[in-house]
Amino acid sequence: MLPHVLILGGTTEARRLADALHPRVRVTSSLAGRVAAPRLPAGEVRIGGFGGADGMAEWIREHAVGAVIDATHPFAETISFNAARAAATAHVPLLALRRPGWVPGEGDDWREVGSLVEAAEAVRGAGRVFLTTGRMGLAAFAHVDDAHFLVRSVDAPEPPFPPRMEVLLDRGPFTLDGERAVLADHAIDVLVTKDSGGAATAPKLAAAREAGIPVVVVRRPPVPEGVPVATTVDDAVTWAHAQRAQSASG
Ligand code: NAP
Repeated sequence: MLPHVLILGGTTEARRLADALHPRVRVTSSLAGRVAAPRLPAGEVRIGGFGGADGMAEWIREHAVGAVIDATHPFAETISFNAARAAATAHVPLLALRRPGWVPGEGDDWREVGSLVEAAEAVRGAGRVFLTTGRMGLAAFAHVDDAHFLVRSVDAPEPPFPPRMEVLLDRGPFTLDGERAVLADHAIDVLVTKDSGGAATAPKLAAAREAGIPVVVVRRPPVPEGVPVATTVDDAVTWAHAQRAQSASG
């Protein structure tokens, strides 16, 4: 029997990982509860915060979790930090599953910034801005009154948000044709994105390249120190199975 695996989710990869491990492995996927109608993975699912790192460590002990895979979004920094602390406290192995970041190609006009706050400064007076950094980070742009924002998000944003804003409710994956149409129909001057990586939202970068539109790219926060990283779901599955070998021999 493999140990009970806790997957910290909220990403396509987390869902694919749960689907790959279940039912051979007991899997619980944890979601923050931000999205009103999330796509649910196979296996058990729990929704809502743990109450910090201590709460997560307690949950790990109470539910006999033998391994944790942090498959959260590369920009979900707090939960990843909490996972590192909780796993250390509860003495369980932890793996971070992180899809590779995007790399600029020929013809790309990227301006890399370190945070959403810096991205907001970069688009001041920039005309029509296509903002794809998610509704939770809109507060960083709330004071920018000299640009018009087209905000794309899964659920409707709540204030604070920029005064000149239009909302496009949509959820990836997106297509190149669809992204071309968004840029053209809304006469976009600049695109803002996090370096989320992955194929589902990459077509906007190709569409921006084709249209000669500059892209403000927010760099990723680092993975907590000492946490091993897998970049593919297959590697994370292999890691989970290796935990069985270790717990059987240990
Ligand atoms: P965050 O800032 O790192 O976490 C804030 C708090 O939300 C955490 O301290 C934790 O509360 C709770 N939380 C976050 N992820 C959780 C999970 N998977 N299960 C249970 N509790 C969780 O997170 P965030 O950036 O708001 O992202 C929230 C979720 O949306 C994540 O699961 C992430 O994978 C997904 N997501 C995020 C982004 C993004 O750009 N940030 C994009 C797409 C999807 P407690 O301290 O109470 O445990």
